[in-house]
Amino acid sequence: MSKKVAFYTLGCKLNFSETSTISRQFEEKGFKKVPFTDTPEIYIINTCSVTDNADKKCRKIVREARSISPDSYIAIIGCYAQLKPKEISEIKGVDAVLGAAEKFRLIELLDGFIKEKETRVLASEVSEAKDFVHSHSINDRTRTFLKIQDGCNYLCSFCTIPLARGKSRSDTIENILNKANEIAQTDVKEVVLTGVNTGDYGIVDGKRKYRFFDLVKELDQVKGLDRIRISSIEPNLLSNDIISFAAESKRFVPHFHIPLQSGSNKILKLMRRRYLRELYAERVAKIKSLMPDACIGVDVIVGFPGETDEDFMETYNFLNELDISYLHVFTYSERANTDAVEHKDVVPMKIRNKRSKMLRILSEKKRRHFYESQLGKNHVVLFEDDISDDGMMHGFTENYVRVSAKYDPVLINELKKVRLERIEDDGRVSVTEIENEVLAH
Ligand code: SF4
Repeated sequence: MSKKVAFYTLGCKLNFSETSTISRQFEEKGFKKVPFTDTPEIYIINTCSVTDNADKKCRKIVREARSISPDSYIAIIGCYAQLKPKEISEIKGVDAVLGAAEKFRLIELLDGFIKEKETRVLASEVSEAKDFVHSHSINDRTRTFLKIQDGCNYLCSFCTIPLARGKSRSDTIENILNKANEIAQTDVKEVVLTGVNTGDYGIVDGKRKYRFFDLVKELDQVKGLDRIRISSIEPNLLSNDIISFAAESKRFVPHFHIPLQSGSNKILKLMRRRYLRELYAERVAKIKSLMPDACIGVDVIVGFPGETDEDFMETYNFLNELDISYLHVFTYSERANTDAVEHKDVVPMKIRNKRSKMLRILSEKKRRHFYESQLGKNHVVLFEDDISDDGMMHGFTENYVRVSAKYDPVLINELKKVRLERIEDDGRVSVTEIENEVLAH
């Protein structure tokens, strides 16, 4: 009988797409993929180093796995595994730890998944993680996360990702187009382009071969792809060319997620980000001038060492005035082996939490304001396969407004033209359908 394997993923979309690829490798070799609670013989836990308390979370999941299936083989992969292989190997119940260069060869390296006395640690230096390994998720039939790039050559002073994932490297345009054409033949309606530093797309075998814009133009030609979303892009890499092109494109959606991290130039410099707030504001203005209904999401970090009340208020006021739609707020937390951890002006946790709360409230205000600006307008929704307790289903418009409608299985995975009616108590927007036919794609 085939062995059962279960997966657990922490962290970003990239991790999800990679887990998906690894799970397909298992299925191809005859393993049976099962839910976490279905007493599998093997557990693969894909970890994240950005997540706060990565260590605690990893331990907790290992504990859960052992209580469900005490004799199971437990392998840990992902960013945290690359950064702290020894620590992880000491967690009770862990049988193997694999680094960035090894995780895609897991089945071959852990031949047979036989439990041994000693935990196996197969994590070479991150400089060994040179190959680009294609990944895309196919668990969810409405959208797929397509990995186009991995690693990062930037040296932001707070970030461990380059240490966990290695240098920037990309898939070739040819491979990506082949994948995109394959996806276009399936039921999937939306492709989300993912990477560690997506806008840096184009380094192949250590040399710059393309620009991200080259890929954008090519992907826009793929027939049968309904929607293409860029998961996140650095402001300095989101060129006016890309913005103008997206404004004209039928496939690239008017939704941009652009990390800002701080609205204070002093802090941006300490963070070693590659832009100043003025450039960020220009990008937002450009997007809004060409796509007034575009949704713009912002990553921001509060409590970076040296961030005074004035610096924080600079960020707050900057964001308050900026025409953006929502924030992802991160509370700065110290990471070993980064430069930021050496800074002396540590911001007390209480203040970090207070700032974080202020920005979360601002985010809600921004989102509501953005949603209100969309009421009465027509948009296309991609409905998802979910039903909530109150009998509603959900979906996103092209410009990332979360909508709800009465559950109707016929709508699942369909693109429907709707009018946005009103903001409900749960924050979602109710809609009315204005056309019965499925939109052509
Ligand atoms: S751009 Fe900066 S924050 Fe983003 S992955 Fe690279 S080093 Fe980390």
